Amino acid sequence: MRKKIVAGNWKMNNDLGQTDELLSKLLKKMPETEAEVMVAPSFTSLRVAFDTLSQSPVEVIAQNMHYADNGAYTGEVSAEMLKSVGINTVILGHSERRAYFNETDETLAKKVDTALKNEMTIVFCFGEELEDRKSEKHFEVVENQLKKALFHLGPQAWKRIVLAYEPVWAIGTGETATPEQAQEMHAFIRKTIAQQYSDKVADKVSILYGGSVKPDNAREIFSQPDVDGGLIGGASLKAKDFIAIIEAV
Ligand code: PGA
Repeated sequence: MRKKIVAGNWKMNNDLGQTDELLSKLLKKMPETEAEVMVAPSFTSLRVAFDTLSQSPVEVIAQNMHYADNGAYTGEVSAEMLKSVGINTVILGHSERRAYFNETDETLAKKVDTALKNEMTIVFCFGEELEDRKSEKHFEVVENQLKKALFHLGPQAWKRIVLAYEPVWAIGTGETATPEQAQEMHAFIRKTIAQQYSDKVADKVSILYGGSVKPDNAREIFSQPDVDGGLIGGASLKAKDFIAIIEAV
């Protein structure tokens, strides 16, 4: 059985007070679930979130990190720094990082290696843009992203990889991939991994869907056989919505 995961990506939202408020609400109503639940606050809230959730099953994860161990990288945060505040999982490759901060698959391959060297788990995001889908290049684009950033890894490393397929045209737009579109792409991703590695590696890797997942569409998307949960942006900022999505997985 594959792990089911619901992860909330808060992006650049919630100061310390708001972090506290949202997490208290979440803890009060946290449903019983076999799924792993994660939240990714900003760097400035990580420590407080970690302390608040230390007695709960919810894992606090980071939204990004640098590939270098330390040094002259003003404004950046290293894997070791994250580990020192209790963080063992990091989101890498989010489309906003790719679009606004010029992160390429080559940079991401380095970040992946650094995270693994530090024994961290990675939620690796990738997905095609609207143009790619319109020109029917979406499978090719997705395959290339995986190849360039992840396929240099040995099969053992995949124990620490969670994939998050996020079609860029569905992020924050209110436009979700249909459950059929999500299933089709997730099955393609799994097949690509099976070809590169083995059925065993492919069967074990959790593939999350992300892009405008809301309480009213979560159940249908999550019910697809190759969709193992979701990476949730906007809807993870409201305790009630995030809880409803956890219940749907
Ligand atoms: P969204 O964001 O749920 O607001 O579309 C998803 C994401 O960017 O991870």
